[in-house]
Amino acid sequence: MNIKSKLPTVGTTIFTVMNQLSVQYNAVNLGQGFPDFMMSKELTGLVSKAMKNGMNQYSHMNGVPLLRQRLAEKILNLYDIQVNPETDVTITPGGTYAIYTALTTILQPGDEVIVFEPAFDSYIPNIEINGAVPVLISLQYPDYSIPWDEVKAKINERTKVIIINTPHNPTGSVIRENDIEQLRSIVKGTNIFVVSDEVYEHLIFDNIPHLSILRYPDLLERSFVCFSFGKTYHCTGWKLGYCISSPSLMHEFRKVHQFNAFSSFTPSQVALAEYLQNAEAYNQLGAFVQKKRDYFQQLMLSTPFKALPSYGSYFQCYSYAGLSDESDKDFAIRLAQQYGITTIPVSAFYKNAKDDKVIRFCFCKKEETLEKAVEKLAAFTA
Ligand code: GLN
Repeated sequence: MNIKSKLPTVGTTIFTVMNQLSVQYNAVNLGQGFPDFMMSKELTGLVSKAMKNGMNQYSHMNGVPLLRQRLAEKILNLYDIQVNPETDVTITPGGTYAIYTALTTILQPGDEVIVFEPAFDSYIPNIEINGAVPVLISLQYPDYSIPWDEVKAKINERTKVIIINTPHNPTGSVIRENDIEQLRSIVKGTNIFVVSDEVYEHLIFDNIPHLSILRYPDLLERSFVCFSFGKTYHCTGWKLGYCISSPSLMHEFRKVHQFNAFSSFTPSQVALAEYLQNAEAYNQLGAFVQKKRDYFQQLMLSTPFKALPSYGSYFQCYSYAGLSDESDKDFAIRLAQQYGITTIPVSAFYKNAKDDKVIRFCFCKKEETLEKAVEKLAAFTA
């Protein structure tokens, strides 16, 4: 049997490739973004309580109502906007699923989508599987800021969506007021939608505010804003997230969702509805993860790698320019093989594999893991 591939140019995601190498070489894994420490015992206790209480059947297709209500309360507290839990909030099996569903809801064949690179590796396949066309714009190395003049130059009548991501994976850059102003002036009076990937919402450092699209009602009415419980509560394996939008957009989103996953894992939703009342658990996250960034940065001073700034997310990028002429992919493979440490080559986040000689590290790990990793890296010689 022959199948005509819907994604003919796509290989296996870099996260799986590097995880396999990590296992093969028994390396310290600072590649894929996931914590290696225990999540909250209180929260796992609440999940097991929900299961024991018989909360094991399908939830409402849009998510457990109490969880949506608690999310609306949280959003009101954090961003001073009233979202309607009935019409504006949908719980999804993960943030990536929310982004896929949003793009599939909006896109028609031939539509153009503005994508900033480096871009999380699901965006472009999500666009192409819908017959739409990614319009690629490189963030400006080394601070990875958005070149708004280039965005303006690439907007035309086929432009359907702009994807934004803050805090940004893989670079840890964050969107500032000026970016919001630019975005706003570009989309005003157009039919351009915004898909905003905010899965690292709480993982933002140095007292920088997270400029969620939720803060801006004029932008929210044309946006799908995607979040992740996995990233917030150190449980990426739960694959649970949510999407916020305006009623007419969410109505269409739910048509796609209902015939795909239909609903999300019930016990975790029941548990989170209760746990969300604890605002401290998410409010202290930024400081908690910042400590890890700072510790990692300080350890890395003993290596010849050059830090690029990280203001949020799980990640920090380092340049090895001047240390090796290898491609970042070959370099990352060699680090796993010879030095026993797994990273992610940043070229994997560019469609044309643009190579600035930069690799991404996930620092959201136990201190001892970071120490072990950097010890190995300190042995690096050019
Ligand atoms: N967000 C994770 C990362 O960037 C990966 C998630 C996934 O593999 N789909 O490492």
